[in-house]
Amino acid sequence: MEIKETPISYCQVCGKDFEHLDVVYYAPIDNNIVCPECSKIHKDRSPRIYVDPNRLSKNRR
Ligand SMILES: [Zn+2]
Repeated sequence: MEIKETPISYCQVCGKDFEHLDVVYYAPIDNNIVCPECSKIHKDRSPRIYVDPNRLSKNRR
């Protein structure tokens, strides 16, 4: 399964910071990116993978 990337670096509900390559969720009803914990109340959600742009540019040298 292909997971889309997101540049959002924290949960938009509880404010928890994501780690590079964390699997998080997009909740279309709120148009929010949320952590797995906060995504539990959403039955309509889709996974996203958080990619830290800083981490990425270092690795791509
Ligand atoms: Zn959260």
